[in-house]
Amino acid sequence: MTEQLTLDQIVSLAKRRGFIFQSSEIYGGLGACWDYGPLGVELKNNIKNRWWEYMVHARENVVGMDGSILMHPEIWVASGHVAGFHDPMVDCKESKKRYREDHLLVYKHPVKEDLPYFAFVEAAAEEVEKKVKKMTKGIPIEDFNVVPLSEIPIPERDRVIGPDATEPGTLTEPRQFNLMFKTQLGALEGQTNEIYLRPETAQAIFVNFKNIQQTSRQRVPFGIAQIGKAFRNEIVTKAFIFRSREFEQMEMQFFIPPDEDDQWYEWWKGERHKFYTDVLGIRKENLNWEPHPPNKLAHYAKAAVDITFKFPMGWQEIEGIHNRGDFDLSQHAKHSGKDMSYRDPVNNQTYVPKVIETSAGVDRSVLMALCEAYAEVEEEGEGHKRETRSVLQFHPNIAPISVAIFPLSKKDELVDPSHRLEESLRAQGFRTSYDVTGSIGKRYRRQDEIGTPFCLTFDFDSLEDQAVTIRHRDTMQQDRVAIDRVGETLREKIRNWNTPR
Ligand code: ATP
Repeated sequence: MTEQLTLDQIVSLAKRRGFIFQSSEIYGGLGACWDYGPLGVELKNNIKNRWWEYMVHARENVVGMDGSILMHPEIWVASGHVAGFHDPMVDCKESKKRYREDHLLVYKHPVKEDLPYFAFVEAAAEEVEKKVKKMTKGIPIEDFNVVPLSEIPIPERDRVIGPDATEPGTLTEPRQFNLMFKTQLGALEGQTNEIYLRPETAQAIFVNFKNIQQTSRQRVPFGIAQIGKAFRNEIVTKAFIFRSREFEQMEMQFFIPPDEDDQWYEWWKGERHKFYTDVLGIRKENLNWEPHPPNKLAHYAKAAVDITFKFPMGWQEIEGIHNRGDFDLSQHAKHSGKDMSYRDPVNNQTYVPKVIETSAGVDRSVLMALCEAYAEVEEEGEGHKRETRSVLQFHPNIAPISVAIFPLSKKDELVDPSHRLEESLRAQGFRTSYDVTGSIGKRYRRQDEIGTPFCLTFDFDSLEDQAVTIRHRDTMQQDRVAIDRVGETLREKIRNWNTPR
């Protein structure tokens, strides 16, 4: 990632090269919904496939499932979402902006009674510091206490200046918004039942616990994994695909004996971190842990921690790991009247298993992959002018295209064998691209910008020595490799891949 990377750079590259478009763009767009183009869907599918291999195929004690989006409405009563899935929102009468109350912090001076309080969105602290310095005629920011807005009593909120406001007292009292989308089941108006689009995939796993445990003959401890769409009527939706109204989750619920939750919680934390560094190629310094303080835990959780990534807008969650206790299975037992307990065949103990959950966002992972990979390289342009161009340095595990094949010229004697090489690599499972237009330099740059790790050039010598040149995206190093060893060489390079920088 470059130092001053902005989200705008990512949004513009994503659109320019066909990764992600605004949904319904020709109609003016639909808020916080996004469409993935040809390269975006490859990147997204690669992330999902790597997750599935890592979480399901590589383990004998995790199985998969794919639940429906529409479920019995009582499920959301049992899970606590009908009563508790709310975000408290405050509106600013001056800026007309809306904020999640729990995203706002306030600078409050401990002694100077005449000073207003300055509210700010956590991720934008630096800008606010400038504003506070200006409005208080230079009182250092360090003199202020930082407190969550929710801890400022309502009568005192008259003193608060909103993040984008200039006058105090413009923030409204918090109002609760339920985030679940409602829809109707049944075709006839008036004879319908209200149901919800699922706001998380997890509940399909909980309600199928018995089905899956019995049919897959798994014994606790074991996990059930699922990738699927979730819907939340988010109120504040900036930041591109980071927070959208329709998104995908990759979730795994690991069912365990009641006294083993602490150890499994720690174990899954380690496994999930390893996925980001070793499989997706995210650098350790761009990942962090953010434990949820006990007073901010979700209604179901005993302990929870977020894995955060250093996005251009600050450190933000990409995955939550939760110790959910036996809350969900017990709730479903209560609301459905069905027994959700498990009898251990070895010691004959019967109990309701506890659950460790790992819950990651697909779209946030796509955004993370784009931000992590984005780099700008300088090179000499025409007349020795310094030019910068953007490169996506994806790990080959997730690059939309793994290898591009270029015949040096459009002559049939090069085109035909280049096509054959491409077909052979495709048959070996590589995602390929074939490009015959423009200079080789231009073709390299096109592939660099979309993150293709390897380019092969088939030149006139190739006809003689039966070898091609492999050019590496990040080092620009070039090697000559025998045509019949190209697949094997690429596989080896991917296996031993070291993220540069
Ligand atoms: P946040 O605090 O950012 O709203 P959350 O804590 O509500 O997230 P969870 O309910 O734990 O999120 O969901 C698990 C994962 O699903 C998140 O880590 C995130 O990657 C993804 N996710 C949640 N909401 C959205 C959304 N609106 N858009 C995209 N991804 C989301």
